[in-house]
Amino acid sequence: MKSERLAQVTGRIEAAARRCHRDPGSISLVAVSKQQPAAAIRMLADAGQRDFGESYALEALSKIGELADLALVWHFIGRLQGNKTRAVAEHFAWVHTLDRERMADRLNEQRAPAAPALNVCIQVQLVPEPQKGGVPPEAVEPLARHVLALPRLKLRGLMCIPPAAESEAAQQALFARLTECSARLHGNGIETDTLSMGMSDDFEAAIAAGSTHVRIGTALFGPRAPVAGL
Ligand SMILES: *Cc1c(COP(=O)(O)O)cnc(C)c1O
Repeated sequence: MKSERLAQVTGRIEAAARRCHRDPGSISLVAVSKQQPAAAIRMLADAGQRDFGESYALEALSKIGELADLALVWHFIGRLQGNKTRAVAEHFAWVHTLDRERMADRLNEQRAPAAPALNVCIQVQLVPEPQKGGVPPEAVEPLARHVLALPRLKLRGLMCIPPAAESEAAQQALFARLTECSARLHGNGIETDTLSMGMSDDFEAAIAAGSTHVRIGTALFGPRAPVAGL
């Protein structure tokens, strides 16, 4: 049952928060529903889950349309392609993977005037990994200042997808680097409230390092099915 998995994951988030003396209410669960059918999302929504993460704009659009009767909050967590920014600007409440000024400019232009500002996190590459998105830590502040000047975007914080580490302690140390990036921003007068970090295999370490948004797919939905056309 999907709702049992939801209860299990929520229980693990709460336990991880208590172990490091954090308020479990300060951690949001983003259910990563990429490559999962709309029916599975609906089941989780019926069990009370509101925030969902998607990585592929076209796949997401059809599900967002199908589930329009539910008041869901959609988070874009995939690589942003230039020809997909309009779909993302129009249909999502959050983008976690901003890593280029040009993408920020496009999202800002394409966000509907009547919609609330688009929440954005800057993706940070903590360890150089050319195949992944994200800016190096030293490029975070200039991009943050660029976003702050765009009225249709709201800078919420930072996001990372670090490589797997050999122990929970090593994983936590990696996540702590994102927390340090965030503290540097705060020290330089840029206020944010979000650290988007932690997935099925490492969210407890991320919570110990200060995560406010864990993005969890497999532990909630089970394995992903291949999606036609990808
Ligand atoms: C797929 C994905 C997740 C979820 O991964 P799981 O291991 O299934 O929990 C989280 N964040 C991003 C950016 C992803 O692409």
